[in-house]
Amino acid sequence: MKTNNLGYPRIGSNRELKKASELYWAGKISAEELITVGKEIRSKNWHLQAAAKVDLIPSNDFSFYDQVLDLTLTVGAIPVRYHELAKNNSSLDLYFAMARGSQKEDQDVVAMEMTKWFDTNYHYIVPEFTKNQKFELFSEKIIDEFKEANAIGIKTKPVLIGPVSYLLLGKEKEEGFHRIDLLDALLPVYFEILEKLQAKNAEYIQLDEPFLALNLTDKERSAFTKVYNEINKRFPKLKIVLANYFDCFGENLETALALPVNTFHLDLVRCHLQLDDILESGKLASNVNLSLGVVDGRNIWKNDFKKSLKIIKKAVDALGENRILIAPSCSLIHSPCDLDLETNDETLTPEIKQWLAFAKQKINEIIILKQLSASNEIDVKDSIDYERNVIANENRKTSKLIHNSEVKARVAGITASDDKRKSVFAARRKTQIEALNLPLFPTTTIGSFPQTAEVRSWRAKFKKGELTTQQYNDLIEKETEATIRFQEETGIDVLVHGEFERNDMVEYFGEQLAGFTFTKNGWVQSYGSRCVKPPVIYGDVSRPNPMTVKWSEFAQSLTPKWVKGMLTGPVTILQWSFVRNDQPRSETCTQIALAIRDEVVDLEKAGIKIIQIDEPAIREGLPLRKEEWAKYLYWAVKAFRISASGVNDDTQIHTHMCYSEFNDIIQSIADMDADVITIECSRSQMELLDVFADFKYPNEIGPGVYDIHSPRVPSSQEMVKLLEKASAVIPVDQLWVNPDCGLKTRHWDETKKALIEMVAAAQEMRTTI
Ligand code: GLN
Ligand code: ZN
Repeated sequence: MKTNNLGYPRIGSNRELKKASELYWAGKISAEELITVGKEIRSKNWHLQAAAKVDLIPSNDFSFYDQVLDLTLTVGAIPVRYHELAKNNSSLDLYFAMARGSQKEDQDVVAMEMTKWFDTNYHYIVPEFTKNQKFELFSEKIIDEFKEANAIGIKTKPVLIGPVSYLLLGKEKEEGFHRIDLLDALLPVYFEILEKLQAKNAEYIQLDEPFLALNLTDKERSAFTKVYNEINKRFPKLKIVLANYFDCFGENLETALALPVNTFHLDLVRCHLQLDDILESGKLASNVNLSLGVVDGRNIWKNDFKKSLKIIKKAVDALGENRILIAPSCSLIHSPCDLDLETNDETLTPEIKQWLAFAKQKINEIIILKQLSASNEIDVKDSIDYERNVIANENRKTSKLIHNSEVKARVAGITASDDKRKSVFAARRKTQIEALNLPLFPTTTIGSFPQTAEVRSWRAKFKKGELTTQQYNDLIEKETEATIRFQEETGIDVLVHGEFERNDMVEYFGEQLAGFTFTKNGWVQSYGSRCVKPPVIYGDVSRPNPMTVKWSEFAQSLTPKWVKGMLTGPVTILQWSFVRNDQPRSETCTQIALAIRDEVVDLEKAGIKIIQIDEPAIREGLPLRKEEWAKYLYWAVKAFRISASGVNDDTQIHTHMCYSEFNDIIQSIADMDADVITIECSRSQMELLDVFADFKYPNEIGPGVYDIHSPRVPSSQEMVKLLEKASAVIPVDQLWVNPDCGLKTRHWDETKKALIEMVAAAQEMRTTI
């Protein structure tokens, strides 16, 4: 039996890579210094895994920005707009220019597009392909890093995204071809890489093909057959570990099992039934091994050894231990680095800490699982590691910290009327028109106003105890009041308080909800040097006290205009946290929904007539396989409705969504039944609205009229054009006027100018209609 790691976090336990990259970009350290930091991280990671005695230690899992971009550079798929820059710059600077764009004296190139890596919160740089795309071995990073590890005495398993998945991850930049057609052009570069690695005595190569977990066309599926047969023909001695993760092979199983590879890696956390499917199918060739991904690479919970050992035993009984590898479910880049660095007993109490494992601890888990699998039953029971694991997991099942019978009873007692407003939208609308008295094309914003360095410094000082609660609150009040006054002067119809008291739209709520805790150093790479530190939902969620009422009430007291209450919705809170694995996600989401519902009801009681429940993450929660969508959408929509339905008809519920496409989920968006939805729209020139129009979306809608990601101030004429476009497809009495998203990343100067233009655009629309 062997242990097999798919990838180790590359940000460094103390985010060394982030810090060094940002210093390099700011011109404060040299390329050599940055390269040294990278080398140190790799060396540390390899040594750590070698010391733990991992059998298959990955290399080329390191990246200065993104592993997909690394591969794009490796195979020389460099878009034309960077060719000039490539001539006069180092390949490191070319690489960063592709990732981040580059603006220097005479050169100005935009970055490549970025998108989510499957259903994770990691973002990769999307390869761009042209019809006559040429590939060549442009960078030897994978070979260099294999040699680098060899030089310190560690033989690694180079990791590479497989050719089919690489092409599918990309985008066609011109018409008239499908990117999978480029396979013949791409494969020779892969052969060259494998040739070079073989010449250096590489034994195992991991090829990641996560697209095997998705719904594929026949053409895409047969590409796998072609590629892996060719590789096998040319490199019969290389041991190819074909890694699939994030879901089952599904209908691709038969194709996959026929591929001539050395080992299949299975994500048994996401899909534990596939082991049975494979063993029972009788289609696994007798010389092929299975890498059992039993340790969750995407969450922070300690493994359940009892459960994992059962799975491993089943596989060993069927195949023999020589054909089994023990692994994390996917690369550990989706886990924080090291639980040992969590020393704050107040937030992460020893009781909670014993339930957790980060990347370093997960490496240990696969090692211990291998040892325990090789021991007889009595030795297992005597093993101290086993005992500790059982105790921790038992404790978690019964801990008072986790289980709150009131919350469970409340969820169990949800009735059919709890997720329904009192009246249907048409009736609510009449009441709201009377109660709110808003003009046509009402103007509003999405919630946040600029989070200036000053505002952030208040929070930092408050946390450090350098500001008293009173002093901090006074400052936030002043900022809020100034923002209300600005909105009044500008003539905005529905005001917001500005969200100055919030660090982050999920953390702010997590800090006030029971069942959540926070790590000090639990960073996970989101993209490039950006890391996120998701809250940890460890127990039943409830809301001990109102969370936002004080600030909304304060803001409303300042003005006769309506001030929108501002909340984050249950699906988004769930999606952007580490979620417990001892109950279905839907259950946790429902608990959060009830907590938000209480807040909505309290806001209404405090006189807030318009309440926005942000759900930007609804779409990203969609499962990878289409056949699972309906189930997810059912509970996600229901959770939103539960959170929104405790109020009277004359209270107007808004929701907001950004970075979304709505084509295939418009029915569910309509089912959410928010009185008003605001969406990001300006960059698509209102095209996103077409699906609402075709669907005859009945409720009100605010298509974003300007892009908040850019400091550029749009003119009212531009916005009028967009609003005219919107009016052509949506009845005017259903339309709102607002920016694409919150303004927290913008400066005040541009924000003020842009909103003045926006109000002018709305006024012009009112007079011309
Ligand atoms: N209300 C939040 C804000 O304005 C919404 C953020 C988001 O959609 N991502 O910042
Ligand atoms: Zn948004």
